[in-house]
Amino acid sequence: MTPAQWQREWQAALRDPAALLEQLQLDPGLLGPARQAAGLFPLRVPQAYLARIRPGDPDDPLLRQVLPLGAEAVETPGFTDDPVGDGASLQAGGVIHKYRGRALLVATGACAINCRYCFRRHFPYADASASSGHWAEALAYLRRDNTIHEAILSGGDPLSLNDRRLRELAEGLAEIPHLRRIRVHSRLPVVLPSRIDTDLLEWFAGTRLGAVMVIHANHPNELDTGVANVLQRLAEHGVRLYNQTVLLRGVNDDADVLEALGERLFDLGVQPYYLHLLDRVQGAAHFEVPETEACRLMRTLAARTPGYLLPRLVREVAGEPWKVPIEWTVKD
Ligand SMILES: *Cc1c(COP(=O)(O)O)cnc(C)c1O
Ligand code: SF4
Repeated sequence: MTPAQWQREWQAALRDPAALLEQLQLDPGLLGPARQAAGLFPLRVPQAYLARIRPGDPDDPLLRQVLPLGAEAVETPGFTDDPVGDGASLQAGGVIHKYRGRALLVATGACAINCRYCFRRHFPYADASASSGHWAEALAYLRRDNTIHEAILSGGDPLSLNDRRLRELAEGLAEIPHLRRIRVHSRLPVVLPSRIDTDLLEWFAGTRLGAVMVIHANHPNELDTGVANVLQRLAEHGVRLYNQTVLLRGVNDDADVLEALGERLFDLGVQPYYLHLLDRVQGAAHFEVPETEACRLMRTLAARTPGYLLPRLVREVAGEPWKVPIEWTVKD
């Protein structure tokens, strides 16, 4: 079968730190640390995303999310390999069932982009994912528990699976009578919008299950017209759209940026959902925004934003039955 356009773009993602610096006209002095950090967690960025980065600007908020830095090698107390305790919650078949009513499927370990702050940078997701065997075990788990009404496809990035694999999964899910919704957590509409092609849209439109997609955008510069087009098509095919953001030092730790992100999401028909405090994963400490500062940012944002554009500030705490809301209204 000839690969789809998105698969060709996926294959062509940039992985060589020297090529990244050259293409973006950055200081060659960044190469040594970039090579070192890429040895810990590989560089990977699709051209569609690179095209939104300002050349020659080492502080570009999109560049910061993908450029490996020497700071990643610094060991910081309190930062661990599995900060959200997923290792312990993982069931056979790649199911993580932490919250009542919904179960998350690690559908694949693959991603089109490697975000430097990702809490999965040390997690052996490729081994753990459902698709490394087949869907049977995951589907059996969901079938056995009729309190589960929503299947969340996550990863890695579930949309990195090809349409045949996704269709198999969606058909299996649709046959489970107590399931009502299928939710997809994906960064691909933002980082590789060509993934949202006609076949995928038909997949969404064809299922009896309510379709929800939670995209992941951290900065308004990520939401260019290519992204706007695919979000519009998703909405036209009946997919409810939400966005989650990770609060990141040097990327979006600024009320103006968060405000602009919310406004842009509104224009694109996407509801802001969660603003996550950074998961404390080893190698990402330089991205952390302390909780008190996050709360101050929320107060500034809340004072100038309609309530429906205000994301919920949360932290993932291992063992808690929900994403833990952070109380930001009390002044420090
Ligand atoms: C984040 C997460 C969910 C989804 O939580 P919502 O609050 O419904 O968005 C479900 N399962 C797991 C394991 C999660 O980490
Ligand atoms: S797309 Fe999501 S899962 Fe993949 S590297 Fe980025 S943050 Fe991690």
